[in-house]
Amino acid sequence: MELEGKTAIVTGASSGIGAATVRKLRAAGVRVAGGARRVARIEADLALPLDVTDEESCAAFVTRAASELGGVDILFNNAGLALGRYPFWESNPDDEATVLHTNVDGVLRMTRICLPHIRDQGHIVFMGSVAGRQAYQNAASYVAAKFGLRGFVYALREDLLGRPIRITTVDAGLVESEFSLVRFRGDEDAAKAVYAGVEPVTPEEIADCVLFALTRPLHVNIDEIVIKALAQSSGARVVRREK
Ligand code: NAP
Repeated sequence: MELEGKTAIVTGASSGIGAATVRKLRAAGVRVAGGARRVARIEADLALPLDVTDEESCAAFVTRAASELGGVDILFNNAGLALGRYPFWESNPDDEATVLHTNVDGVLRMTRICLPHIRDQGHIVFMGSVAGRQAYQNAASYVAAKFGLRGFVYALREDLLGRPIRITTVDAGLVESEFSLVRFRGDEDAAKAVYAGVEPVTPEEIADCVLFALTRPLHVNIDEIVIKALAQSSGARVVRREK
């Protein structure tokens, strides 16, 4: 499947996996509308403000993106985050709301608003996580959110069956991006420790997975790609090199 001349919407385009995927899509000849709150950081054909937790923001983003791109072939639902690493009895309503509204409601909302604009032979790609396949400790809201996302994608696949729209989820383990910096609220030492003594997957390697799924023949649907560092077997289990 050639991507040249296609159009795409990428959420969370200001950093990490989203930014890397925008670069690879554009290199493949795709015109991309990227959305995020930090719009000044987005390098796309169209860089637009987007808060996936806000219905009006999503509606305005999609209306403008679809009209300027002239329709949508690819939606990459990538925006997401985790907050904190603590046992659930230390949780609080604000963190729970932010994590669930961003990773779950935000994805449902963007998918619902984009669907009428997605052309036949379109493709929706979701950024999942190994946290949505296997629980790990001190991450209950994020685990719940990514399991929720996986349930939504399975249900959507049933609803869309028979329509020419493909669906893929990429479930990743450790990826070195700003994810841990956000999770630890700007604490650089805590963020660095997540990747200490291990070679994590890069955002570019996740973008390669996205492009692999997009470029299969149209009768082939890659349902799920699970990608982890070789030194990682689950969200909780990582073998680190001695210093
Ligand atoms: P990142 O570098 O922190 O990027 C996250 C992106 O999400 C940013 O562009 C951020 O943009 C955007 N975002 C967050 N909240 C948003 C909101 N309310 N509205 C719009 N955009 C929002 O982290 P990343 O690793 O690339 O994360 C991308 C996705 O991969 C997430 O869904 C994450 O759960 C998933 N993932 C990451 C890892 C990992 O280890 N890094 C592993 C598995 C899955 P703004 O802040 O500018 O809005």
